[in-house]
Amino acid sequence: MKLLFLSESDRAELWRPVLRRLAPELEFVQWPDVPDPAAIDFAAVWKYPPGELKRYPNLKLVSSLGAGIDHIIGDPDFPAHVPFVRLTDPTLTAGMIEYALYGVLRHHRQMRDYAALQRDGRWKPLPAPVTAACRVGVAGTGEIGGAVARAIQGLGFDVAGWSRTGRGPESVRMYAGESDWMPFLARCDVLVCVLPLTTATQGLLNARAFAAMPKGSAVINIARGSHVVDADLLAALDSGHLQYALLDVTRPEPLPSGHPFWTHDSVELTPHIASLTNAETAAPQIVENIRACLAGRPLRNLVDRTQGY
Ligand code: NDP
Repeated sequence: MKLLFLSESDRAELWRPVLRRLAPELEFVQWPDVPDPAAIDFAAVWKYPPGELKRYPNLKLVSSLGAGIDHIIGDPDFPAHVPFVRLTDPTLTAGMIEYALYGVLRHHRQMRDYAALQRDGRWKPLPAPVTAACRVGVAGTGEIGGAVARAIQGLGFDVAGWSRTGRGPESVRMYAGESDWMPFLARCDVLVCVLPLTTATQGLLNARAFAAMPKGSAVINIARGSHVVDADLLAALDSGHLQYALLDVTRPEPLPSGHPFWTHDSVELTPHIASLTNAETAAPQIVENIRACLAGRPLRNLVDRTQGY
């Protein structure tokens, strides 16, 4: 059995030893050195040249090497008959929780205001914020967003979630579907976006959404840059309606030099580092799914291609 490692960005040397240890029966073939494409049974993929997957006629399963699969599902040559599974990874989720908590606390504890006061050499306590009165909304309460919502709630914030079907952590008040989007936003002092990028979610963080949020609120985007309409976000920040945007993702990436996000006072920017897949904790799921595929058992985290996630 041969597993193709197909990625222009992931480091095969991190994955090879872990996969070899977990599944010695699998031969690890590292793209682009593939002498016999017809001999490939499985593929573990991340950023790759579109169309590449159609070169492997006997693929039985494709596993993503990460959680967000928009760039893979957007490949028009993705072999439609081959099942496609994505990854969930506890280490990845933990990093996303940390990043979201940082943004929520930075806004809630007025740390940007204190940084400005420090720059001015002023010792000036501001009115103390009340945690239970700060309403945080998590858009997308799946594997990562659900864990993010629980962690923020664990600190005492008033947390709500929004998802397509209303699925989310039991302890969190959930809003469901398009009809609940505006009521959900109306109670977001901080909005954390953890949605997958699909045709339904692209551009969702736009002028209409920002206007529905309370004045002085904050946006944290740890999902995909294309969820945000940049000009609308800048306008909402410039008008003072939104106070702070923490962006880990942009469109495109890297963000071109000269883009206003680079220098905007109210924007904090990181280069898509909120979290990374960890080979050690994620590889068991790839192996588990390969074995399930061979045994005809149900696959974990099978991507629903009609929904796009
Ligand atoms: P999941 O598939 O587990 O969860 C997706 C969530 O989004 C679900 O709650 C789903 O609702 C909801 N959703 C999907 N479409 C809609 C819609 N149209 N309207 C409302 N809700 C919707 O994904 P993960 O939690 O694993 O990952 C989320 C995203 O995080 C990834 O797609 C990726 O883009 C991003 N990510 C970013 C990283 C970074 O470093 N910045 C790292 C890892 C991931 P329902 O359950 O009702 O279907």
